[in-house]
Amino acid sequence: MALIVQKFGGTSVGTVERIQHVAEHALAAQAQGHQIIVVVSAMSGETNRLVQLATQINPIPYSREYDMLIASGEQIAVGLVSLAINTLAEKKGLIKAGESRSRPLLGHQIGIRTDSVFSKARIEGIDTRLLRDELALGHIPVVAGFQGVDIENNITTLGRGGSDTSAVAIAAAIQADDCEIYTDVDGIYTTDPRMYAGARKISRISYDEMMELASLGAKVLQIRSVELAAKHGVPLHVRSSFSPVEGTRVVSREQLGDHLEKVVVSGVTSDASQVKFTLRGIQDRKGLLADIFGSLSKNAIDVDIIVQDVASNGNLSLSFTVSHTDALKAKKVLESLTPRDLSTVEILEEPGLVKISIVGVGMQNHPGVATKMFSLLSEAGISIKLVTTSEIKISCLIEGTHAKAAVATLHQGFELDRTE
Ligand code: ADP
Ligand code: ASP
Ligand code: MG
Repeated sequence: MALIVQKFGGTSVGTVERIQHVAEHALAAQAQGHQIIVVVSAMSGETNRLVQLATQINPIPYSREYDMLIASGEQIAVGLVSLAINTLAEKKGLIKAGESRSRPLLGHQIGIRTDSVFSKARIEGIDTRLLRDELALGHIPVVAGFQGVDIENNITTLGRGGSDTSAVAIAAAIQADDCEIYTDVDGIYTTDPRMYAGARKISRISYDEMMELASLGAKVLQIRSVELAAKHGVPLHVRSSFSPVEGTRVVSREQLGDHLEKVVVSGVTSDASQVKFTLRGIQDRKGLLADIFGSLSKNAIDVDIIVQDVASNGNLSLSFTVSHTDALKAKKVLESLTPRDLSTVEILEEPGLVKISIVGVGMQNHPGVATKMFSLLSEAGISIKLVTTSEIKISCLIEGTHAKAAVATLHQGFELDRTE
């Protein structure tokens, strides 16, 4: 008997029929002798609808009220899924009328405690007692993903795609044997299969590579879920809720063995959410950069690529990118610094950019990968605005209109296309 956390994403609970399928699936796994905890996202489109409503009132989100609102999609989903499990269990004769086989639970009910950074909250701890009690009763707890509660009892949310992180955090806290992420694709691919038809399914991938892919735009898993899984050694299995085929296992580099080191590039990603800010004509002073980036970070704005240049007159020019959801807030922060430090500075904002990246642990042992990437893009007539690298990835910022062509070029150029 195994203890399994099964997480179902938005599309997997997108209609009443899909929800009934989830109920069927969870009961079937339980009938095989396993203990099952289900974690669900809001029905597809629901969180976007709620975000839309909020931004019509205030374009800068991130507040207690905003999180209270956008967490509500998951409450609907757990209610429906749990209702479906109980109804089906009764139909199958597993329980009598009025009994239950499942219990819907919100984040605060199972003590998913987070910090108070609204819309990007981090989980600080989970109290597993109620979950264990429910399992001991033979129930299938159905937990709302994406949400938690802070020290002041405010509802918080974990960032878009955060139900993945809820599932992994629960799996880690309760020491589950497996964490299955059911989604609308049948695994992790070499690139987004909706963006490029030649994408190939990967059977196993390391946490490290998946972390890079997720942080660079492969939204199939939220980055924090992979970080947590790596930290606690939670085995992840990304698979389809529409078909029973084996998906992709995310495992440690040791479990992967060294054959993968031979694969130079494992995946290509594109992240369309980039806005580039350029500050021109900065008169430098000691600590100025720390002040600028300190103010951005105090406002929970994640800065990505940073490039600094010194002009011939000694003035500084600074470029950096942020996610488009943070752009408005970032601009306000920069403007608030204007009177003291940036009064003569020109602030340019360039939206609509895309970060294209290649990822692979094998890159470390193969020189010339960056050169090949730049040549491939240049041959395709795509110009590069900024570049950033780490041990196992190279990213280039390009014009958004070139995103699809760039993914195809790199995917083919690094020989990732389907082999069959
Ligand atoms: P869910 O609602 O189940 O959480 P998401 O929409 O968050 O699903 O994530 C699944 C989507 O991730 C897929 O539909 C696919 O378009 C996208 N995706 C991006 N990159 C990849 C990749 N490398 N492999 C698989 N899917 C990817
Ligand atoms: N419903 C949330 C979102 O749309 C969380 C999730 O889907 O994981 O971002
Ligand atoms: Mg998701």
